[in-house]
Amino acid sequence: MLKHKNRSVWAIWSLMIISCFCYSANGYQNFDVAIYCRAQEVQHMAEPNWLKDRWDVIAHQVKVDKVYLETHRDVILVDEETITKARQFFESRGVKVAGGITYTISESNRFKTFCYTNPEQRQKAREIAEHTARLFDEVILDDFFFTNCKCESCIKAKGNKSWTQFRLDLMEEAARELIVKPAKAVNPKVKMVIKYPNWYEHYQGCGYNLEAEPKIFDGIYTGTETRDPVYTDQHLQQYQSYLIFRFLENVKPGGNGGGWVDTGAMRYMDRYAEQLWLSLFAKAPEITLFDFRRMLQPIRQELRADWHGTQTSFDFDQMMLPIKRQDGTLITPSTMARPAGYALEQVDVFLDKLGKPIAVMSYKPYHSTGEDFLHNFLGMCGIPIDLVPNFPAEANMVFLAESAKFDDTIVDKIKGQLMDGKTVMITSGLLRALQGRGIEDIVELRYTDRKDVTNKFWHRRAFWSRRGATYESSTKIVIPQIKYLTNDSWEEISCLTSGIGYPILHSADYANSRLYVLTIPDNFGDLYNLPAEVLTQIKEVLMQDLYVRVDSPSQVALFTYDNDTFIVESFLPEPVDVGIVVTKKISGLRDILTGEVLSASAAPPGRQMFGRQGRAVGDRVTFNAQIKPHSYRVFKCE
Ligand SMILES: [Zn+2]
Repeated sequence: MLKHKNRSVWAIWSLMIISCFCYSANGYQNFDVAIYCRAQEVQHMAEPNWLKDRWDVIAHQVKVDKVYLETHRDVILVDEETITKARQFFESRGVKVAGGITYTISESNRFKTFCYTNPEQRQKAREIAEHTARLFDEVILDDFFFTNCKCESCIKAKGNKSWTQFRLDLMEEAARELIVKPAKAVNPKVKMVIKYPNWYEHYQGCGYNLEAEPKIFDGIYTGTETRDPVYTDQHLQQYQSYLIFRFLENVKPGGNGGGWVDTGAMRYMDRYAEQLWLSLFAKAPEITLFDFRRMLQPIRQELRADWHGTQTSFDFDQMMLPIKRQDGTLITPSTMARPAGYALEQVDVFLDKLGKPIAVMSYKPYHSTGEDFLHNFLGMCGIPIDLVPNFPAEANMVFLAESAKFDDTIVDKIKGQLMDGKTVMITSGLLRALQGRGIEDIVELRYTDRKDVTNKFWHRRAFWSRRGATYESSTKIVIPQIKYLTNDSWEEISCLTSGIGYPILHSADYANSRLYVLTIPDNFGDLYNLPAEVLTQIKEVLMQDLYVRVDSPSQVALFTYDNDTFIVESFLPEPVDVGIVVTKKISGLRDILTGEVLSASAAPPGRQMFGRQGRAVGDRVTFNAQIKPHSYRVFKCE
């Protein structure tokens, strides 16, 4: 689905070697860019000067292929005449136009959405869909097509169902009967797209039906905004901007139209760029910038971080350089459209070099929850994860978090993999959930109520010398104690405290393979406190089928592609030295952006590596590299 346009070598070089961005009417080479316009702004667009003054500011700083013109939000309904004038404005400038709907009553009142058991509001929802489908051949629903209503009517209609089941059923019916059918009745050509928000672990609770709706709608779209991981109330990890796009692409292959990012909640400007980049590393064919109003907000100087000016991937000082237009005039960056444009230019020069994303497969059943959003923490530890909604029986390694408990037959599926000689790693949370559900048939482990508080870790077989080694983290972490039967299963990595230890990584042989159990700290954030050596040992097992691994502290992520190309991206505020371990025969590693060819570091004497089931692994080469703060490097094996 990725758009590949022809471009000359000169075009690549000009982007790489000149310091200012040459504005041209042509879009980016590898993706489309859309700007979403809320009803609050669209209602002013009939006034030509109001629109032209603002649009010029945006379009001089970022290349825009398309706009979404919203017809409804918070009970503001934009009339046909206004939409028609706005459409003419954009189309006369070669900008594509699509419609948007936000089904909110009051966004500022805890996201008050429509009540879908209220006959008047149902009728209103239907009329908005018809009105919009009459005006556009493509309509996207912003991510408020859910219900959190607990009015008396909804309580009565819920009956004995859980809120989750009631809302899943209600919204599936509403999607079909109030939105898509009426829209298609007035415009059979209309493409109806549902955009999903960033809270994928909790969709079902408010009726987002990821199983049924992608079949009802022509397309889906992904909210890839993650904002600040610490201070926002969602605490989403940066890796999620990549993972959620891949997950939804796996839900509707070829049908995930793009990633959607806003400018909210950041402490430094890189955070905005990272969200755009990660959506594109996941191969989003389109990026939607939310929104028209925010693209006009002034650039805040306080978002310039300490590391800016040191040629990091997003360099604030470079971003602020004047933009040269085709007629030779210079535009000074002024609003948030420019950081967007600058960030997109940085990655457009190499996205076509990336193959198909590959990663460790992890199964998350529809409407499941458990160890919420955990996969993103592993992504931030350098373990690439591809979430899939159906069990990936073909994968040689499957990782399962607690959410897999929603599959009633999950133990049989794990057994099936082990019988087939494939490996499975489950979390301590899933182990707990499967106690009494048959996991004992594979191995008798006990997830206890007791805790271990420690900062010492021990690996039985040291990485280089096969002697034991102890590693310390700077902070103590709290883990659940898992008990096992002597000589029946084995501690691979242990936590040590008060003269005793408990498993962090545990393994048990079964049939033709091995089940691993990864102990998850009570606070997922403590995964970031695991020593780099411990992370390496976990990666050794989990990433055994990938051709590359990065040995580093946490918060350095890896994005792998099937054409021997990969990206290493650091989210740390200081430079980090990493070891890139490539497990195939290669002559060198080329940095695609600088042209530098890295040579292999000398292998330590007597080093012998073993993979799954103790198999000796073939060629392994280690390269040393440094990654700047909040920066990525793109490598190609040669
Ligand atoms: Zn209600």
